[in-house]
Amino acid sequence: MSKPRQFVYEAFNLSSFGFNLCKQRNHKDPLISTKSKTVSGIGLCHGDMLYLVPVNGTQLWSTPSTSSASVISIEPGPMDTTGSTNRTSGLSRSLPNIVENDVDEQLWKLDGKIQRKRDEKLCRHGARGCCVHCSPLEPFDEIYLKEQNIKHLSFHSYLRKLTAGVDRGKFIQLDDISCRVKTGCKDHPPWPRGICSKCQPPSITLNRQTYRHVDNVMFENASLVERFLNYWRGTGLQRIGYLYGRYEVHSDVPLGVRAVIAAIYEPPQESTKDTIRLLPDEREALVEELGRMLNLWRVGWIFTDLIADDVKKGTVKHVRNIESHFLSAQECIMAGYFQNQYPNPCRFSPNGYFGSKFVTVCVTGDDKNQVHMEGYQVSNQCMALVRDGCLVPTKDAPELGYVIESTDKQYVPDVFYKLIKLRGSYRAFEDS
Ligand SMILES: [Zn+2]
Ligand SMILES: [Zn+2]
Repeated sequence: MSKPRQFVYEAFNLSSFGFNLCKQRNHKDPLISTKSKTVSGIGLCHGDMLYLVPVNGTQLWSTPSTSSASVISIEPGPMDTTGSTNRTSGLSRSLPNIVENDVDEQLWKLDGKIQRKRDEKLCRHGARGCCVHCSPLEPFDEIYLKEQNIKHLSFHSYLRKLTAGVDRGKFIQLDDISCRVKTGCKDHPPWPRGICSKCQPPSITLNRQTYRHVDNVMFENASLVERFLNYWRGTGLQRIGYLYGRYEVHSDVPLGVRAVIAAIYEPPQESTKDTIRLLPDEREALVEELGRMLNLWRVGWIFTDLIADDVKKGTVKHVRNIESHFLSAQECIMAGYFQNQYPNPCRFSPNGYFGSKFVTVCVTGDDKNQVHMEGYQVSNQCMALVRDGCLVPTKDAPELGYVIESTDKQYVPDVFYKLIKLRGSYRAFEDS
């Protein structure tokens, strides 16, 4: 006679061995070591009743849910994934429908090595020789990046770092962070009546992201921004624009990406001195089509936060700094919203997308009261919190966001963060 666990596994067509067989309904008296013993060997008789108990909420039947790993969805959005980087069996690289950006294709062709000159002091060989002091460095070399004052790895350097191991990154999988309860868990009734370790999204610990998807933003010519600023100059009201352009290799950092802006499109909007509201845009499709014909793509957005200081001198107030904030929570959420709308096609992601190349440019006053621009992206963690509706702005503190509490309608994972004291102010979020 066959072994009971094997028999049950086959008879019920289970997807996992994560179960016990118990003689009693209250899960007591499990059959011990049932792998090796046959039915008669463990004292079971014909007609005995056994109870099948999943271990730790293991899902024993595969359900035809859309979140099954074999379904490769091209839609961005919440997936059945956890955490950031998992090394699991390889779905990667074989996604036929993923068209990565041209700049990614170009960067994959580069070896990315940082070439070094012969070190006059340390190298003891001739001009053609090579030693540990002058051999090329990996693009993710920490000491080099520190020396060059590069705070974040470029995304491709990060990928090279992941693929540099002994397995050459064969099993790399970049999973989107999800803050949602996995659907289709059959071990219990759906949230709020039940949740288990299998379907519960993991808690999130906010961290500075080590890499960034775009390392630099460049405007093809200064008059682009000047024209955009004319609205504020004429009215004193703030303004939003979409940035159209393309992504190029940015050679200032190893394997870097630069967003090159060729045009700013100002959509219909209603603004005041300190608010902007976007209005429905009938011409959006037309603008997109025009862009496509010119090989220009929506790569980011720009907004002003300008308050005149001395009108005669043309100076503006310096309001965004380490004491206040660089981006408000509302702006971070908006950036996250846009980044989710423009996900980054990536061969290592099971759903085909990872992060975003969409940039945020804020025009504001610098510490010399001059109009200047700052480029940002929010982290993939922030994108996930925004996409899954966990992060909201606060009413009276622009620098603070709020992670909502779980309700009957929505489970919200715990979000942990460290307060960093920076000369009197606190920052929980770090952007690039
Ligand atoms: Zn040398
Ligand atoms: Zn569950």
